[in-house]
Amino acid sequence: MPLTLNVIQEQQEQKEIKNKKRYTEGYRLVGNHSAVKICAYCKKAIKGEDVCYKNTFYGIESWRCIQMSPTFFCDHRCVFCWRDIDYIWPKWQGPVDEPKFIVDECIKSHVELLQGFKGNQKAIESKLKEMQKPLHFAISLTGEPTMYPRLPEMIDYIKEKGMTAFLVTNGTIPEMVERLIGHQPTQLYISVYGPNKEIHQKTANPITKDAWEKLQKSLSMMHKFNRNVMRLTLTKGFNFVAPEKYAELAEKYKPMFIECKGYVWVGHSQERLEIENMPYHHEIMEFARKIEQNSSYKIIDFKEESRVALLAREDYKDRKMDF
Ligand code: SF4
Repeated sequence: MPLTLNVIQEQQEQKEIKNKKRYTEGYRLVGNHSAVKICAYCKKAIKGEDVCYKNTFYGIESWRCIQMSPTFFCDHRCVFCWRDIDYIWPKWQGPVDEPKFIVDECIKSHVELLQGFKGNQKAIESKLKEMQKPLHFAISLTGEPTMYPRLPEMIDYIKEKGMTAFLVTNGTIPEMVERLIGHQPTQLYISVYGPNKEIHQKTANPITKDAWEKLQKSLSMMHKFNRNVMRLTLTKGFNFVAPEKYAELAEKYKPMFIECKGYVWVGHSQERLEIENMPYHHEIMEFARKIEQNSSYKIIDFKEESRVALLAREDYKDRKMDF
């Protein structure tokens, strides 16, 4: 029996009747294997309360950003993940939806989900207008997007529509990263969950054999992407260690940007970790300074509320994109 989303849900219901909504909570499901969820910062931005750090660093208009994923499948069980990591798959299973269908349906679902803001007193008039025409895809909601076999076409179609595509991957499918060189996302993120194999294993607990070696292969192609980021999600007690070793990795693979992002105690990670596992912003800055001291990278920006620091070997005039 193919493992479609319905089958997953049935398995989930059987396993957790008392907690039926556990796995797909708050997601708007799209087709057989995709989902959209309105990002907290998108909501805050519509009310003029705040924007996300990707607005601060790269100019992303948070109120026009679609947070989605073309897959629920993932081969990692990262200790800090907001997802329910009981659901894990080494590779793709079941039907493969059309890229255009996924993109168009995600746009439609996202805009539908935002209509409630029309009655919200706090909503900013101009943002209410602009939110109807999303500009950005954040392909990072859940799961491992590079498992979706038609990802290159999906990214091409997003860009054909004049939108941006920020793709986050854990790098364990270097074959797909290689295919994406010819179908570049606007910005590629490769997540590095440890400065070495041992800590990566402890933090990400991958089911993929040779996950660390595959990650190295993906990192070695990073420089072929026009905009690329080595993303560190730092969790105390796990991978918030050895900044000089992360610096070594950066010197080896030369990413355009390094993001030092503090883990946030949300979702199902609260069942695995304590709030004390979240680094404070000043600790993130200190960690980033140590990377600075051990590499050719410099801190070029940060956002305190998001506990994140941005490093680069030089700042770029078009770092912050205009739309
Ligand atoms: S870039 Fe990420 S954090 Fe910012 S609005 Fe989009 S989904 Fe939210």
